[in-house]
Amino acid sequence: MDKPVDLLGLPMPALRAYLDQIGVGAVQGPRVFGGLHRLQQSLQEIPDLGRHAERIAATSEQASVTVLSAHEDAGTEKLVIALRDGARVEAVLIPMHDGRLTLCVSSQVGCAMACTFCATGTLGLTRGLTAGEIVAQVYAASAWAARDGRRVTRLVFMGMGEPLHHYEATRDAVGVLLDQHGRCFGAKNITVSTVGLVPKLRRFAADFGGRLQLAISLHAGTDATRRRIVPTAVASSLADLKQAALDYPLPGSRMLMIEYVLLPGVNDTAEELTGLAAWMDGIDGVVNLIPFNPFAGATFRSPTTDEVWAACHTLQAAGVVVTVRWPRGRGANGACGQLALVPAEATA
Ligand code: SF4
Repeated sequence: MDKPVDLLGLPMPALRAYLDQIGVGAVQGPRVFGGLHRLQQSLQEIPDLGRHAERIAATSEQASVTVLSAHEDAGTEKLVIALRDGARVEAVLIPMHDGRLTLCVSSQVGCAMACTFCATGTLGLTRGLTAGEIVAQVYAASAWAARDGRRVTRLVFMGMGEPLHHYEATRDAVGVLLDQHGRCFGAKNITVSTVGLVPKLRRFAADFGGRLQLAISLHAGTDATRRRIVPTAVASSLADLKQAALDYPLPGSRMLMIEYVLLPGVNDTAEELTGLAAWMDGIDGVVNLIPFNPFAGATFRSPTTDEVWAACHTLQAAGVVVTVRWPRGRGANGACGQLALVPAEATA
């Protein structure tokens, strides 16, 4: 075995196979998994593992991440997290109105998708996180929240990066986080968001359809505008994306989430909103209107409150279910589309 195995990023079936391969035995899988993920033990602390701990340690590595700083704005807290090689990502703790705490998770350092309204897109892609780093990020942020009695109850893969562009790591991390032997985040509490990579979306549907909530970042009602502000949309039309959305088996009574960053004069025109309403026809989903959150160098402006309500009412009149995601965390550069490792005044 040449490359050390990413121990924290192994879902149970892969962990069992690995333990079998190194002679520890697949039967130890639940013990090792429960120790690492549920009890947060080191290999040496896992009871009755004995000499097996050394064999596992010699052939694997455990991702570790560190919360470097926290930046809070009106209850929303952006965490700057360092990976072992010094790369940094951001995760955001978002208190919900019902008392629950959502963690917005990053899957990549930067992002290759280059959406023009997103600060992360201006960074380019440095690298993807390993599955173990994604899992470690969730644990580190959860531990940070637990310092003052908060508990992360919901995960959204909407932080830095496009999770389906980094498919295997996302898939394995989700597999770990779902597992009943570990932290066991319920499937209904995990949402994965995609900018609409259709082939990967179909793969995701095969792996997690019917279980995980899905969010699609649409952002335009016409192909021309979508290609302008979401460059990767060149590869797939709105019609292709709609068919993939229709084919995604939603869990239970959940609705598909459609993310729409509202850019005044760009995607809130009558043509764009008519196109959006037509796209939603037949889709069991809700449009989340996200007023554009500004960042340095951005060429868009934020919509006024009146502009947001006007778009909202136009869509509602066309029969679309709409919610508005009013900005949360802007003061800490932690709102949607602002994650770009821009320092704010440290509060850690
Ligand atoms: S919106 Fe999402 S997919 Fe687009 S550049 Fe930003 S992080 Fe990447």
